[in-house]
Amino acid sequence: MARAAVPGRLTWRVATVTEVRDETATARTLVLDVPDWPGHLPGQHIDVRLTAPDGYQAQRSYSMASAGAPLELTVQRVDDGEVSEYLTSGVAAGDKLELRGPVGGWFVWRPTSTAPVLLVAGGSGIVPLMAMIRARQRQPFRLIYSVRTPADVLYASELARGQPGLDVHFVYTRVPPARRISVATINTHGWPADFEPECFVCGPTGFVEAAADMLVALGHDPRRVKTERFG
Ligand SMILES: Cc1cc2nc3c(=O)[nH]c(=O)nc-3n(C[C@H](O)[C@H](O)[C@H](O)COP(=O)(O)OP(=O)(O)OC[C@H]3O[C@@H](n4cnc5c(N)ncnc54)[C@H](O)[C@@H]3O)c2cc1C
Repeated sequence: MARAAVPGRLTWRVATVTEVRDETATARTLVLDVPDWPGHLPGQHIDVRLTAPDGYQAQRSYSMASAGAPLELTVQRVDDGEVSEYLTSGVAAGDKLELRGPVGGWFVWRPTSTAPVLLVAGGSGIVPLMAMIRARQRQPFRLIYSVRTPADVLYASELARGQPGLDVHFVYTRVPPARRISVATINTHGWPADFEPECFVCGPTGFVEAAADMLVALGHDPRRVKTERFG
């Protein structure tokens, strides 16, 4: 029996790439024009589906980097990555991409919230957190961003420009002396737990688990520690 199309976020749409911007040597932002985009909240993601000429399909999730339209995705190339290699080197302005979304209702920041916000990013985990920074108005934000080297920092010039009420602290994991985020880092550069900040942690699974454990050990209410794992 034929099934009716599910309207809204589960509909596959054909987006047009309007601009391609290199963020680093291995990461690229794609600006997309999506017909009838319903809007999204910072933190949400979309599914991208690629179809080869023989019909083989691959699907991956990518977070929105933009606070609103136009939609922007930033893709970090993963070595031998089926989809990320194509999105960071095979796509040009004018190309079409199939996507559906927005997806996700938990890992979102609502710009109407007035609580302080602590963002903890590992590598490309900065992407959905950048959408939150871009959507913020006067709320006090602190960002702790763990990344291999200064050359790997996404949105480097935007973050370096500085914004009132936004504090940024980098932790470089591949620059001597190589460091990792620790309880001391979060204690020094995050918010005290009794300020009751909303905490968002995003990055590779091991990073997210470690950082979330540190936040809870520092007294943050686990219900205010939201996590997103990039796998
Ligand atoms: C909710 C969500 C949002 C995401 N948002 C983004 C985003 O905004 N930007 C972004 O670049 N990625 C994001 N990702 C990760 C993305 O979906 C893909 O997993 C990533 O692009 C790798 O896909 P691939 O096809 O290139 O690699 P695959 O062919 O799937 O894997 C190739 C190899 O790389 C390893 N690998 C897979 N993913 C990663 C990873 N993230 N880091 C390190 N090694 C990996 C695999 O284990 C495998 O060995 C997100 C993931 C999720 C679940």
